[in-house]
Amino acid sequence: MISQNQYYSYNTKELPLGCQYCVKGEKLVLFVTGICPRTCYFCPISDLKYGNDVMYANERKVENAEDVILEAELMNAKGAGITGGDPLSKIDRTVEFIQKLKNKFGKQFHIHLYTSLNLVNEKNLERLFLAGLDEIRFHPDLETKQLWPRIALAQKYPWHIGIEVPLIPTKKQELKELLDFVQDKVTFINFNELERADNRMSKLGEMGFSTTGKFSYAISGSLDLGLELLQYAQEKQYPLACHVCTAKLKDGIQLTNRIKRESENVKRSFDVVDAEGILSRGALYLPELAPGVGYRRKLDAADKTLLLQQLHVFLTKIQHDLHLSSEQIVLDPLKVRLLLSRQHAKQHKKYFLKQGLLPALVKEYPTADQFELEVEFLK
Ligand code: SF4
Repeated sequence: MISQNQYYSYNTKELPLGCQYCVKGEKLVLFVTGICPRTCYFCPISDLKYGNDVMYANERKVENAEDVILEAELMNAKGAGITGGDPLSKIDRTVEFIQKLKNKFGKQFHIHLYTSLNLVNEKNLERLFLAGLDEIRFHPDLETKQLWPRIALAQKYPWHIGIEVPLIPTKKQELKELLDFVQDKVTFINFNELERADNRMSKLGEMGFSTTGKFSYAISGSLDLGLELLQYAQEKQYPLACHVCTAKLKDGIQLTNRIKRESENVKRSFDVVDAEGILSRGALYLPELAPGVGYRRKLDAADKTLLLQQLHVFLTKIQHDLHLSSEQIVLDPLKVRLLLSRQHAKQHKKYFLKQGLLPALVKEYPTADQFELEVEFLK
């Protein structure tokens, strides 16, 4: 019986190096493109990203390598995991990002990359290796073995080679065959607990896969299959390391640890940071751009330049009237609001309401989208 590790996942040998950084939240998640040659029925990619040539560094939409480096600095990253889509669909960009990250943060900045086998060839692998990629993870198709021999092409280089596949409960036989095939060709295999996604691509619900609970996205039977496969690899004494990455690890431990790192870097002097890295702060909203129904849509559609000018006038007046310094109250151009301490928001709420602003106490993620978990308007 294989027991759970401290990260709520299961492994037979040491965790792959890329995962060791990941579980501590030390890796930047670099989504290099939503373009992918495959159309997997379990694809977790959001509708906003899948099939679109968009780039994200963690939750931040980015345009170039400089933006990516900025986000890596903000979270004090020790490495990056390059994903998509299929990063090989945009091989020039992927190679450029690897090179620039290595140049900026040094050789020890650990980079791993996920790819389907569809675009793997000798040329692409050579380019990735020469750019400095440390670890490559293949995602083979379980419906056909046709492309599996391409995995061996990566053995030409002294990097870590791994396999990463979802644990589809109906694919026990295929997953065993994959294990048999790769056991002497790669250093590790990661089995991911399968999760349902709220997107167009994922057909798991329609195909009859149920979740483990009303509030869970994890698919029933997936984790059990993973544990069975670990047992199978051990009995066969396969040399590769096997890891079952649970939904709890991905959504709980890894994300929480990354958020904690980010909050250390983005918090303002007046923010209070809780044990999970969530920021508690005060905020002053313009009535037309206050959180509520359709908030994101309103924010996207707003004429921000004009509204920021208005807010700037408020900022100067508040600083003067309440004797607050430029450290104590700041303009947030992204959300078009003013930020200050919870204490000041509460203490001067009547004054703010009189000015026509809506004071609130907010709890939000320190991520680029500053996702609000709680907004309490003060009356
Ligand atoms: S799961 Fe990965 S390989 Fe499959 S369609 Fe989605 S992005 Fe492409």
